[in-house]
Amino acid sequence: MLVERGRHIAKGTYDCAKYALQYGIALNIAGGTHHAFEDHGEGFCIFNDIALAANALLIENLVKKVLVIDLDVHQGNGTAAIFSGYDAVFTFSMHGDKSYPLRKEKSDLDIGLPDHTEDKLYLNILKGALNQLVEKTDPDLIFYQSGVDVLKTDKLGRINLSMEGCKVRDELVFMTAQKYEIPIAVTMGGGYSHRLSDIINAHANTFRTARQIFG
Ligand SMILES: [Zn+2]
Repeated sequence: MLVERGRHIAKGTYDCAKYALQYGIALNIAGGTHHAFEDHGEGFCIFNDIALAANALLIENLVKKVLVIDLDVHQGNGTAAIFSGYDAVFTFSMHGDKSYPLRKEKSDLDIGLPDHTEDKLYLNILKGALNQLVEKTDPDLIFYQSGVDVLKTDKLGRINLSMEGCKVRDELVFMTAQKYEIPIAVTMGGGYSHRLSDIINAHANTFRTARQIFG
């Protein structure tokens, strides 16, 4: 059952990436299962959808260089390990330094944030990183893991973004993709706020923001 679900998620992200190449942006309503490694799953993740999709597109010669922007509060450890030493995929993870996993892998670029980081600092750091990242890697496609467990209401995260701050985070990523005309495929990632409505709102904001910018 879970394997079946994982397969659907991975195929969804693969299709999503192909739509992104066609239309500039596409969003998967699931995915971002970034804790899955090549040979095992962990942290609610069975298959690494972004890694599978990136690999497939590289093999099919649809892209030559991929940038993964992982802004879930947890490090994209599976994705980092899978693409370690592999030039075609650049992995960037910005996450809570003390959040799961305690033993971090090495992404091509990791930014580990201190506990309780708030909007202003978070957004400044992200803003500073994004342009440089895209210019340095010059990707044909971006995968964006847009986990909303960065919210201060989250039970598992240790970062204190407001609902508005989380929305501006998405805006910054989308505006960068648009500015450099790089197709972007968005996957959902985590979200564990006490109130379900906060999780839904934050995820829905990702879609609203995408429509605003690319619509
Ligand atoms: Zn997470």
